[in-house]
Amino acid sequence: MPKISIVVPCYNENEVIETFHTTLVETLDAALFPAHSQGGSAADRDAYEICYVDDGSTDGTRERLRKLTETDVRARYTSFSRNFGKESAMLAGLRMARGDAVVIMDADLQHPPELIPRMLELHGHGYDQVIAQRDRSGEGLIRATVSQAYYKLVRRAMDVEVIDGAGDFRLLSRRAVNALLTLPESNRFSKGLFSWIGFDTVTFTYENVERAAGSSKWGGRRLINYGIDGLLSFNSRPLRLAIHTGLWLVLSALAYAVWIVVNVLVSGVDTPGYATLIAAMVGLGGIQIATLGVIGEYVGRIYHESKRRPHYVIRETDETTMPTTPKAT
Ligand code: UDP
Ligand code: MG
Repeated sequence: MPKISIVVPCYNENEVIETFHTTLVETLDAALFPAHSQGGSAADRDAYEICYVDDGSTDGTRERLRKLTETDVRARYTSFSRNFGKESAMLAGLRMARGDAVVIMDADLQHPPELIPRMLELHGHGYDQVIAQRDRSGEGLIRATVSQAYYKLVRRAMDVEVIDGAGDFRLLSRRAVNALLTLPESNRFSKGLFSWIGFDTVTFTYENVERAAGSSKWGGRRLINYGIDGLLSFNSRPLRLAIHTGLWLVLSALAYAVWIVVNVLVSGVDTPGYATLIAAMVGLGGIQIATLGVIGEYVGRIYHESKRRPHYVIRETDETTMPTTPKAT
């Protein structure tokens, strides 16, 4: 039987992590060893592993994970020196994972462990990526509308396919994980990266569940920034848009100038319009600033990538193969 790794990024999940672990272990044991649901033999204990990544939690999640790994051989953990973000935590988890199939899931039980057997089954049919897509039931109206609009925009603007409601709950085959790990960018927009690596992908839906305990870490600001990241990290279309806008403006300015000349020739010298001047100045100024912002954003990204910093710094880990200060890739 292929070995399975479960990767779980955790940030301030003290309240829920223990429940999560018990639920996950019970579900997996029941699914993988239906006869003796305890997973008694040594081979059984090796059937799966759970890689927890503590993303610099401040509420005692780290201590709890350390204890978990001491009591359960299947649990392993890595803890960051500060909060580096879910993307970095996922990357660390993927680096820890040794399984032939890797499932990434949240710690708050919003990703039901009962779905894992289904994912494994689909993986067995030859799919390299199995995505569990939640529907939007029970989500706030505003949030649902905003994220739906966001995905629509992203789909239109990006070269990669991003699916609405498909969070990071997915199964990846070993070769898909290896492909992901070869992507070196430090600004990781994993939804796009997953889609970039390709391979056969299958999606199924499940009913949205509320978080078991604790609170969501995604405020409005964080979501907006995530959206900008998503839009900018996959192509340079906003730059193209800026060029088009500029061209159109130049053309209309030319037309307007021609019209003024004709007007003067026909009806004599006129007092030039103050309002038109101001409107043109303000409009152009605004567009210039916006365009500069777009360019600046890309330059900033180049700067950021060119520093080649590691994606995270590890405070402690039970891994022997995991360098505490990872080499920049
Ligand atoms: N998470 C993380 N680092 C962060 C924020 C979140 O590792 O900076 C983890 C968090 O512990 C959880 C998952 O990412 O396991 C999803 O976070 P959350 O439930 O807050 O997001 P939501 O479900 O509201 O989108
Ligand atoms: Mg959640």
